[in-house]
Amino acid sequence: MRATVIHGPGDIRSESVPDPQIIKPTDAIISVAATCVCGSDLWSYRRVNPVKEPTPIGHEYVGVVTDIGSEVGSIEPGHFVIGSFYASDNSCPHCRHGYQSACVHREFVGGCQAEMVRVPLADGTLVPTPGQPGPDLLPSLLTLSDVMGTGWYAAVAAGVRPGCTVAVVGDGAVGLCGIIAARELGADRIIAMSRHEPRQRLAREYGATDVIIERGDDGVDRVMDLTGGVGADSVLECVGTAEAMSQALGSARPGGTVGFVGVPHEVEISGEALFRSQVGLRGGPAPVRRFLPDLIDRVWDGRIDPGGVFDLTLPLDQAAEAYRAMDERRAVKVLLRP
Ligand SMILES: [Zn+2]
Repeated sequence: MRATVIHGPGDIRSESVPDPQIIKPTDAIISVAATCVCGSDLWSYRRVNPVKEPTPIGHEYVGVVTDIGSEVGSIEPGHFVIGSFYASDNSCPHCRHGYQSACVHREFVGGCQAEMVRVPLADGTLVPTPGQPGPDLLPSLLTLSDVMGTGWYAAVAAGVRPGCTVAVVGDGAVGLCGIIAARELGADRIIAMSRHEPRQRLAREYGATDVIIERGDDGVDRVMDLTGGVGADSVLECVGTAEAMSQALGSARPGGTVGFVGVPHEVEISGEALFRSQVGLRGGPAPVRRFLPDLIDRVWDGRIDPGGVFDLTLPLDQAAEAYRAMDERRAVKVLLRP
């Protein structure tokens, strides 16, 4: 099969590799219908995370089951399925508590920018759609594998509830999906922070009531201006830089909560500042599996359309161009079709 392999910073190649096989009786093999490039894939591409050896890359996938192990019971060949980037048994104490991304048996599902992928713990990980989706639904369903599930978790972790005021730090795919989540969870006011015109437009389409272009302390000042000096009830931090986290904490009202889902890079939080802020923090790798059944229904019924975050679609074997386009900010998020 064809697969995308990262050889080093800036070095993405489309290669022929062996087809994945069932290794454990709980595995399933999927024929990938659509996959994509994640902002976190760029950490390796940009040398922020080291690449020690050629590694198949990608962790977002939707597709049709082609083979299952002998112990798989709820998933059958022919099912169109979606799973998270973390495989989970969906039965251990952490899974039952809704934190499948902390499953005691969790395994990262890598190498998904490929024609086929092996998914461990298939029964606990994969959720079938109500039927075979048409091509128009593919982009939105694909976002549920990571960015929409992660944006939803950011909103849940930040305690978004009907009538509240939300600020969203980050206008990448996760931040934009976080706006959808905040709207669906009933937020009254949603302040998006974005300085890119096409992303501002999408943010408004998805439910942002205000867009501010300032960053850092100026961004905090603008949120305070817009909220009468109070601050936001809930803040979604969807970037992972020190500036973004500082902006998120500064934008929350005392008693408010920050949901942070950007993978932190060199973020340090002052204990003293956190103590005085009286702001709650919850975040981490999103337990996407918790939200999949609900999010599949919302996409299937046309209530949400997160597939709009894809502004470029390329054939799988042009993955190198997909990475370049995202690295150079020519694209928010690129969908790859095997
Ligand atoms: Zn578990």
